[in-house]
Order: sequence, then C-alpha cells, then structure tokens
Amino acid sequence: MHATVPPEFEIVIVGGGLAGSVLATLLGRAGRQVAVIDMHDVYPPDFRAEQLVGEQCGQLAQLGLLQDAVGPLPPIPRSVAAAGGKLIGQVEAPHYGFAYETLVARLRAAIPRTVRWLTGRVVDIATGIDTQAITLAGGQTLTARLVILASGLQRSLQRELGFERQMRRAGHSLTFGFGLRPTGPDAFPAPVLVHLGGKRDGVDYLAMFPIEGATRVNLFTYWDPRSPAVRAFRQDPAPMLHRLFPRLPALLGAFRIEGPVQARVNDIEAVANPVRDGIVLVGDAFQTSCPATGTGISRLLTDVERLCSAHLPAWLASPGMAAEKIAGFYADPVKQAADREALHAAEYRRALATSDGLGWAVHRGLLSLRRRIGGWVGGPERLTTGIQPLVNAPPSPAPAAAPDYVPEAGTCLPIGRTSWSSR
Ligand SMILES: Cc1cc2nc3c(=O)[nH]c(=O)nc-3n(C[C@H](O)[C@H](O)[C@H](O)COP(=O)(O)OP(=O)(O)OC[C@H]3O[C@@H](n4cnc5c(N)ncnc54)[C@H](O)[C@@H]3O)c2cc1C
Repeated sequence: MHATVPPEFEIVIVGGGLAGSVLATLLGRAGRQVAVIDMHDVYPPDFRAEQLVGEQCGQLAQLGLLQDAVGPLPPIPRSVAAAGGKLIGQVEAPHYGFAYETLVARLRAAIPRTVRWLTGRVVDIATGIDTQAITLAGGQTLTARLVILASGLQRSLQRELGFERQMRRAGHSLTFGFGLRPTGPDAFPAPVLVHLGGKRDGVDYLAMFPIEGATRVNLFTYWDPRSPAVRAFRQDPAPMLHRLFPRLPALLGAFRIEGPVQARVNDIEAVANPVRDGIVLVGDAFQTSCPATGTGISRLLTDVERLCSAHLPAWLASPGMAAEKIAGFYADPVKQAADREALHAAEYRRALATSDGLGWAVHRGLLSLRRRIGGWVGGPERLTTGIQPLVNAPPSPAPAAAPDYVPEAGTCLPIGRTSWSSR
C-alpha cells in the first residue's frame, strides 16, 4: 500500500562526516530534495584519516570535489620511501595532509544551501517500502523516501535498528599519531616520507607528512594495546622509536617528538544483515577498514560514487524503496571489489608485519630483495606499489653516529577505538 502523504524529502542522510558530507553535496548539486542530520554542528577534533593520497585524490576529482576538500593547498607531488634507514625509492602520487575535522569542515562548507542541515542525534528510524520516519532525540520527526546511514562507527542507532555486526578481527591494529620537529640545521630529506617497519616487529610503517605547518607522524602497528610496551611508548615514544628505527635520526637529522601521542585501536567488522526496506549503509557504517591500508576513504568514495551514479537515479525514478532495490547496491561488483580488496589488504599487511613461519620469512626476504634491486614492489603490498627509483635523490645518509632523539614527555590520552563496541 502506498503512503497517502508524500514524504518531506527524497533522501535523509544520517551522519554528516566524510561520507555524509560528500553525498549531501553531490545530491544537492543534482537538485535532489535532501536533509542531513548530524549530532555535531562542527565536527569535533578526532584522530582519524590525516592523509589524502594518490587514487583518493582522483576519486574526489572525478566527483568534482577535490578543490572543495583541499582548498588552496597545493599537493606534494611525490613521497619518498625508506627501509632500514635508507632511502629506497619514491612514489609519484599527490599527497595532502590535514586534520580530519578540517577535511570534514571543508566538505560540509561545500554542501549547497538547498540541502537542509539539522543538528541533532537520530534515535530511531521507522522504515517501510514507501516512507521512512526519522526521529531525533528532541522528538522532531522527518520523513523521506530513502535514508542513507552514514553514521560511521557509532553503534547504538544501528543496534536499535537491528543491524548485526560481524567482527572479523577485534583489535586488528593500533595506530599512533604525534608531532615531530627538526631541532638541527638539516631539513628533513622530503616533506612526505614513508619508512617501512622491520622484520616481524609488529610495525607496518611510519608515515611523516606536513599538516598546517607542522610535521605529523602516523605509526601503523599491530601491537596489543594492553601491553606494557604500548603504555611506555605512549608516555615516551623516543626509546622505542629509536629501537625500531635506529637509523631514523641519521636519515632525518636531529628532531624531537612534540605534543601528545594519540592512539587508536582498529577493529575490522562489517554489518552482516544490511539489506532492508528504505535504508542503505555507506562508509564505516557498513564496514571498517585498517588505517594502514589507506582504504577507508577510497571505500567510502566508491560507495558514494556507485550510489549517486549507478543506483539512486533508478531507485528514485520508480515507486517504492523495497529491500530488493537496496540489495542491488550491496551486490554492485565495483563496491564489492573495493570492500573485498580492503579486507584482503588488511589481512595481508598484518601478516607481513607479524607472521611466523617459513613462507612469510621467504616472502619478506623476496620483497626486501626486490626493493633493493628494482625499487618496485607489486601485488597486494599496496603501500609500496608504485615505488620507483629516486630521481634527483637527496643523498642517502652516510652511516654516522645518529643524533640523539630529544623527546618531550608524551601526554597519555585514553586510547580511542575504531569500533562500534566502545560506543
Ligand atoms: C587513526 C585512524 C587513521 C586513519 N587513517 C586513514 C588513512 O590514512 N586513509 C584512509 O583512507 N582512511 C583512514 N582511516 C579510516 C577513515 O578515517 C574512515 O574510513 C572514514 O573517516 C569514515 O568516514 P565516515 O563518513 O564513514 O564516518 P565519520 O566521518 O565518522 O562520520 C560519521 C558521522 O555520523 C554522525 N553520527 C553518528 N551517529 C549519529 C546519530 N545517531 N545521529 C546523528 N549523527 C550521527 C557523527 O557525528 C559523524 O559526523 C583512519 C581511521 C583511523 C581511526
């Protein structure tokens, strides 16, 4: 039976983070009647993605949103890769660094005025074939033909709606973020540097890049967040950093660690039963990604692109929003490939950094050999795909007495969790 009163909006987006803001802009520009609801008027400071790299820039450009996302910032055209304290190659791919909240703020600013913005917490969504009723904490209700749930890691609403999460690996990885400042006369060898981890030390890699005039480090590990070593690292990262990357000061010159050490545990999980009348899940709300793989943003941009170009126009062109329509999005081969690749990359990178056994030892040896002789590594080692020989290389540092780390006492913040289970 069809509703007698037509819904107020064609689409209501719940969550105005990265996925929700991009969707709101594209749908608003396409002339759709859209509302976005988010708990926060201004996205709060949050340790999330701090880099936009390579194909993600291409995806945003294709959606017509790269300029909105990066503002006047010019890209850094290439990153330098290092292993064992030596420069091993470069990656020709644009790189932008930002605080996550800055990126979301820029994308929110691009949302057309025709899109209605509401600040509030959604507490219930009654779904049906024709009309969805969205209720906010204050009791206000909106109606729409379709709800797009872009609520990220927030769990309570999804649980309320009966979506079940399937945990693939709890505590899959642990990511750190902190500042670095050169203290000597030598500048860093490159603005963006990726230093690969050692053998089975549980470190994937360290990425160093500029954010708003300062140098930021993301350290991607598979360490146990409860271990004493992690606690020690968060209070004073310098000794452990020195053990893990003994030649880093020779490569970078003298530096000191600045500010608090942020840490985030990342669970890998996905919604097991997403198909439902009238509601579709995108971005982290559907599946989480390991930060080390750099697939969180590409996956959510794939979701947005597939929805806006392949599915939504057809869904809206015919009556009803039954589960059979919605199922087409989750069966989309491009989306499925992006989700599958992200899971595969997460498993592969973890195994590479942590696995025992002859097979992995041989694999690591071959990778290291290929890096040394060819400077190129293919396959699923996504991060290093595209490493080419250095052109106009800054000289690799001669073996020298490493300058000392000058640590600043790290401030121990609570460890965040990229998971529903903590919320
Ligand atoms: C430490 C870390 C580093 C990372 N690094 C990278 C990286 O380098 N590259 C990469 O590609 N990915 C990275 N990621 C992953 C990436 O950050 C995420 O995939 C991406 O931010 C998800 O965006 P989203 O729009 O799905 O969710 P979010 O941006 O979290 O947006 C969700 C929004 O929903 C709102 N909301 C939730 N519930 C409600 C409700 N009930 N009512 C109203 N509003 C609600 C929230 O307020 C929020 O604004 C990293 C993640 C972490 C944790």
